[in-house]
Amino acid sequence: MDFSFPPEAEAFRSEVRDFLATNLTEEMIEATHDGTMHIPALHRAMAERGWLSGPVPAALGGGGRSALESVILNEEMQLARAPIDAMGVTVIVAAILLEHGDDHLKQHVVPRLLDGSSLACFGYSEPEFGSDVAAAKTRAERDGDEWLINGAKMWTTMAHIADYVLLLTRTDPDVPKHKGLSFFLVPLNTPGIEIQPVPTMAIERSNATFYDDVRLGDEWRVGDVNGGWSVMKTALKYERGIAGGQFLSPPVIDAAVDWAQNHTRPDGTKPIEDPTVREKLIRALIDVEVCRGFAYHCADLANQGVMFGVEGSMTKLFASESYKRHCRDFHDMMGAEGLLTHESADAHLGGRIEENLRHSPVTTIYGGTSEINRNVVAEGHLGMPRAR
Ligand SMILES: Cc1cc2nc3c(=O)[nH]c(=O)nc-3n(C[C@H](O)[C@H](O)[C@H](O)COP(=O)(O)OP(=O)(O)OC[C@H]3O[C@@H](n4cnc5c(N)ncnc54)[C@H](O)[C@@H]3O)c2cc1C
Repeated sequence: MDFSFPPEAEAFRSEVRDFLATNLTEEMIEATHDGTMHIPALHRAMAERGWLSGPVPAALGGGGRSALESVILNEEMQLARAPIDAMGVTVIVAAILLEHGDDHLKQHVVPRLLDGSSLACFGYSEPEFGSDVAAAKTRAERDGDEWLINGAKMWTTMAHIADYVLLLTRTDPDVPKHKGLSFFLVPLNTPGIEIQPVPTMAIERSNATFYDDVRLGDEWRVGDVNGGWSVMKTALKYERGIAGGQFLSPPVIDAAVDWAQNHTRPDGTKPIEDPTVREKLIRALIDVEVCRGFAYHCADLANQGVMFGVEGSMTKLFASESYKRHCRDFHDMMGAEGLLTHESADAHLGGRIEENLRHSPVTTIYGGTSEINRNVVAEGHLGMPRAR
């Protein structure tokens, strides 16, 4: 089998590496420790190169670059420890607006999302509903020519820096739950919106958002009234197609190798001399190769126009669960030194392993929990009966 990439993909990878070497600094990565996983200057520089519009299909007015390039971009950014969250969400929202939005959204919002001057966030989850997203209760009711929105969303990550939230609302409570949903793109400076910070056990900050008699014109509706589930399917298609987050482990493995080679134990030996340490490192490196295989397989399917589902779930499930395991293994391996946090001057590589250990569990929750993804694989790949 030939595992090599097409020359144009390799050229793109070199271009991204050069770009990150010039445009991403340690100070920028350090600044994300305030909890906001976004680097505005990097985001704008990427937009200038056309990399935000790149993954959006050309037929919709985007760059139409191959899915392989999107995966390479995600991979290189994660290897360089650049946050990809705001970029990924903004690109997905732009693609959704191009597919389901009307002219107002296409002309006034999409260009600003793709040129890096505006950001968007997802407002799907609520305090009581996450996995069962179709059970959303936030109400949108007609009031003359306008809509009146009332409700609360939980985990609206990046709402505090975003310009728009893609909001899932209930427009008909009297029909089966999937049939009474509608989406709106809500400017976050609309009167009646309150944003409260929600700290997480890692460094990432999320938000609770509240909507109290928020008035919107119909031009902000995305898709048909009560047709929200079809917009949601598009959102999932792009989320899986871009399939970010598969390359979570490499920066942690780099840190673990560095520690194993340079730490001196009381008996004068280095951890790397210990076969059990080497085995953990090698197993983690093998897992990363498996993640690469999954991710490139998804990209290949996307390039062939295959609307994949199970493969996206497999990719996300394996990448997040293996990342969690690697962080736990490496943290254990470091013993007491592993407890030192970013704030400690003595922490190895700024406490990178400890910080990732705290971050890793959430990657098995957001974007679809591991249990939900296991259900998808069990039903869609193994042919087992539906669990719900
Ligand atoms: C830090 C963070 C950031 C987030 N960012 C966003 C965001 O930007 N926008 C947004 O809309 N949401 C966001 N989320 C929400 C995230 O998508 C949900 O937390 C996730 O979908 C799970 O929903 P839940 O928390 O309500 O848990 P629940 O759905 O209540 O699940 C609780 C437990 O039950 C399990 N479970 C649920 N249903 C089933 C089933 N059918 N079969 C088997 N097991 C099941 C779950 O796997 C989980 O272990 C974020 C969450 C976190 C923690």
